[in-house]
Amino acid sequence: MDTAATITLANYIDGALRPALGGRVLDVYEPATGAIYAHCADSDSSDVAVAVEAARRAFPAWSMFPAETRAGFLHRIANVIESRFEEFVEAESRDSGKTLAAARALDIPRAISNLRFFAAAATQFASEAHAGADAINYTLRQPLGVVGCISPWNLPLYLFTWKIAPALAAGNTVVAKPSEVTPFTASMLAEACVEAGLPPGVLNIVHGQGAGAGQALVDHPAIKAVSFTGSTRTGAAIAAALAPKFRKLSLEMGGKNATLVFADWDASAGNLDMIVRSAFSNQGQICLCGSRILVEQSIYDAFRHAFVDRVKALRVGDPRDAASDLGAVVSRAHFDKVMGHIALARDEGGRILAGGEAVRPGGRNRDGWFIAPTVIEGLPMNCRTNQEEIFGPVVTLQPFAGEDEALALANATQYGLAASVWTGSLARAHRVGARLEAGIVWINCWLRRDLRTPFGGVKDSGVGREGGFEAMRFFTEAKNVCVAL
Ligand code: NAD
Repeated sequence: MDTAATITLANYIDGALRPALGGRVLDVYEPATGAIYAHCADSDSSDVAVAVEAARRAFPAWSMFPAETRAGFLHRIANVIESRFEEFVEAESRDSGKTLAAARALDIPRAISNLRFFAAAATQFASEAHAGADAINYTLRQPLGVVGCISPWNLPLYLFTWKIAPALAAGNTVVAKPSEVTPFTASMLAEACVEAGLPPGVLNIVHGQGAGAGQALVDHPAIKAVSFTGSTRTGAAIAAALAPKFRKLSLEMGGKNATLVFADWDASAGNLDMIVRSAFSNQGQICLCGSRILVEQSIYDAFRHAFVDRVKALRVGDPRDAASDLGAVVSRAHFDKVMGHIALARDEGGRILAGGEAVRPGGRNRDGWFIAPTVIEGLPMNCRTNQEEIFGPVVTLQPFAGEDEALALANATQYGLAASVWTGSLARAHRVGARLEAGIVWINCWLRRDLRTPFGGVKDSGVGREGGFEAMRFFTEAKNVCVAL
């Protein structure tokens, strides 16, 4: 434990901020400097047990509140975040290495939207009725009880609230575990809940490691459902643990998303810029980033030229600097993993067209974890570089001849989260959209999100859907009541 760090991030259990019962803490690093700047509670099964007990006590009252009351609490939490907006932005950037601009434009606004969106959903959620000749059936959608929410480090508060808000809106009480890599804004969310007057035990935030607090949460017998976002490997372990217990489980996992650029696309600067963003936003650490760019043969050379030029112009530097397009990657371990993948791509015969190395911005960032946006070509689709999720600023370029080959290449991975298709043909857009093995397809855009739409992946990218009423359905149990007429 480094004693230079001054910030200590506590658990939020039963309405109070408290250290882990075992007294242990984890070091929290600032990716842009490589230095420890905080400690967070390193919880274990005893902390989880106390949190689950608090959530159980809170459940009857919370679930009985009128939907408007639950919505009111979610809005009040959102109000507090809004009132401390810049503090949240700075915390998210410092904790994760993402640029201040990204946290300001995406992460924190979206966290606020999540809370407000599901506040509205609480009041608008409806269930079905089936009228027959001699009976009428209606469906009750009842909250489950205490649910577990586990989230990753790439969009910390954004994804944390994306789970917590619908769970609470639907009338459940929650024990949530943020990533131990980026615990800062989850702690600030706890403070916001205290300030908003959320009743004790309704939301409990337990910090700690996956194998400790995370596993304990999954294993706790009183947890009725688990909503997980993270790697496919962890998702598989959680699914294996929960399957014999028949618990509800939602899994949002890894991706290896394809970007399909057809010769008839609108090659405007704005569209090229969007494809560059789809590749390198948040240093490529968004599960929806397009990391395999497939380009129709006839425009391949022109596209490569324009794309690589644009990528080389991206600036990597201090996340606090408004001139930086890319900040740091999230951790030393992740830096090593991504650099290892770049070395592997070279070994596999890939040609590095841009990047391919670490960046040392100097000054306060001299020990930070920065990687140049990297473009690689010349690799077959079945190599590890094109099959394994790198989750960093690394993309491959590959030509295709015709729609069938484009689809075959796009679908040739174990993953199936998202894809984007760039074409001027409406008919092709619909054809390709329907045949892509992905849960989310964007046509001539990327990351346009309407929170009402189903969100999730197929194949090894996920099971179940989040978003809108899909999330409300996940966090409730349907009960049919049949009334004889
Ligand atoms: P991770 O799987 O290592 O960790 C995710 C969370 O699970 C963390 O909170 C971690 O502590 C916890 N965890 C780890 N082991 C656990 C266990 N045995 N039991 C319970 N919890 C455990 O993932 P990560 O490295 O934090 O995040 C990156 C991954 O997340 C990438 O694969 C990315 O594609 C994926 N992701 C997916 C989506 C999506 O919506 N599909 C969104 C964002 C990120």
